[in-house]
Amino acid sequence: MKRFYSSIMLLAALLLCIPALAQSQKKPVIGISCSIDGTTVEVGMTYIKSVRKAGGIPFIIPITTNEKEIDEYLDHIDGLLMTGGEDVSPLLFGQEPSRFLGEVVPDRDFYDLVLIRKAVKRKIPVFGICRGIQCLNIAMGGDLIQDIPSEVENAIQHRQNGPRSYGSHTINIVKGSLVAKLLKTESIAVNSFHHQACGKIAKGFKVTAKAPDGIIEAIESEDGRSYGVQFHPEGFVYSGNNTFLPLFQHLVKLAAEYAENKR
Ligand code: MN
Repeated sequence: MKRFYSSIMLLAALLLCIPALAQSQKKPVIGISCSIDGTTVEVGMTYIKSVRKAGGIPFIIPITTNEKEIDEYLDHIDGLLMTGGEDVSPLLFGQEPSRFLGEVVPDRDFYDLVLIRKAVKRKIPVFGICRGIQCLNIAMGGDLIQDIPSEVENAIQHRQNGPRSYGSHTINIVKGSLVAKLLKTESIAVNSFHHQACGKIAKGFKVTAKAPDGIIEAIESEDGRSYGVQFHPEGFVYSGNNTFLPLFQHLVKLAAEYAENKR
């Protein structure tokens, strides 16, 4: 009889644990920044699929210039993925526009920079891709090269004519950096679809990869919570090449830690 009661107690204890277990296994929510075309917001399936493949729940954050709405969106996410897109207005980093500046979207500039600053303040991890690494750098006080071909002598081609899953130039990765640890290499070929790049790096950040011409291809924050790459890892992941998937898995891991600490 005593044995019967102790097994009942054990069963009851196990049942009580189930909700707690389910809670701890909840996948982290990764907010993804979007672009806007008229009245339509857009996010590439490449980003969505990469977040899913890395174990996160993709959550598209609609473009808004209302800071309160941005705060409300941030309440729901555990990690932030800043995506690629148009050029950033140089007025936001203290420069006048180059003759070669491309399209700028003022509402998106505002939304991207506010999202990043508020996320960093809340200690939400941030991963920036292409325009995303540039916005991360600007939001934290750095600036950009507005147009590589006209501003950087002997620059290589950074606007490749090839599929998004093709690496067209190499990068040299700083030994011991986050990118080196995640990709397990110090030299790798990446894709390249940009004519702007990080210039002066924001305080609290360091350069962790460069192209052979010196163009910055990766940065990370000293606190380890924010990082960015100039290339497009999602282009590889979407095509089934998982070489760069660890860059997304790391965001999901940091997001899980954030969610854990928030509870
Ligand atoms: Mn490049």
